[in-house]
Amino acid sequence: THFGFETVSEAEKASKVYKVFENVAQKYDVMNDAMSLGIHRLWKDALLHVMHPQPGARLLDVAGGTGDIAFRFLDYIRSQQEKQQRRAMSLGQTPSWRDISDGYPAGGGAPESAVVVCDINKEMLKVGRQRADSRGVTTGLSWVVGDAEELPFNDDQFDLYSIAFGIRNVTRIDQALKEALRVLKPGGRFLCLEFSKVTNPVLERLYDAYSFQVIPVLGEVIAGDWKSYQYLVESIRKFPDQEEFKGLMEDAGFFCVQYFNLTGGVVALHSGFKL
Ligand code: SAM
Repeated sequence: THFGFETVSEAEKASKVYKVFENVAQKYDVMNDAMSLGIHRLWKDALLHVMHPQPGARLLDVAGGTGDIAFRFLDYIRSQQEKQQRRAMSLGQTPSWRDISDGYPAGGGAPESAVVVCDINKEMLKVGRQRADSRGVTTGLSWVVGDAEELPFNDDQFDLYSIAFGIRNVTRIDQALKEALRVLKPGGRFLCLEFSKVTNPVLERLYDAYSFQVIPVLGEVIAGDWKSYQYLVESIRKFPDQEEFKGLMEDAGFFCVQYFNLTGGVVALHSGFKL
């Protein structure tokens, strides 16, 4: 490959991945929209739709970068709370969180939903923090530098774990999956959004042409960085397909593993539970 990733050591791959995201951090969000024609927003919305988090849920978003999943999570929780309040009001009840659902803090206080964004790259997190400031998000969100393969969290901490377009950058996927399982509470859910194998041969040819010929050019024109975007395309091609990744999740110990293809398999959403 461009970086010769097949021949470099795990440590070298990790340091190259780090440099790629350090280089692209400031332009990452603009590039995401440009490269996917805005479709990454729909894929991320689909992740939240399937996750369907409820007030009080604690999410760990690994490889969370500039916070796209975290902001969606907080918006989704807010919309669920509003829905529940409206329902309670229409039933003539005074909405207290204890009435609306079980499991909320005693005393009827608002449930404490929280999302922790964990990423190995502090430049990506810096951009995320700036976005949080400009959106005025002050509570329920924290940013932690950490490696998916060695998460800086205790066991059984989170109801939900997500990783969007991150796991293909991790050196030892099996180790990252084991860590995901460790930090989830029993009954917790793992969700992974990642580029995958296009199922339709015609779409596959179009997609290949777009990926190899258009994306590095966009990388050069918008971010002045051909190499990083060439790496992104190559890393997508090397990532296990839908069934293989499902197998890796099962090997790691997840149950009820299933996946959904989005945009003809350009992206797959995998889900599994810790029992
Ligand atoms: N999840 C975000 C999104 O969907 O917009 C960012 C995805 S970005 C393509 C990949 C992210 O994975 C980068 O922020 C990178 O720093 C992070 N990453 C790469 N290797 C990692 C690792 N071992 N542990 C945690 N994060 C990692």
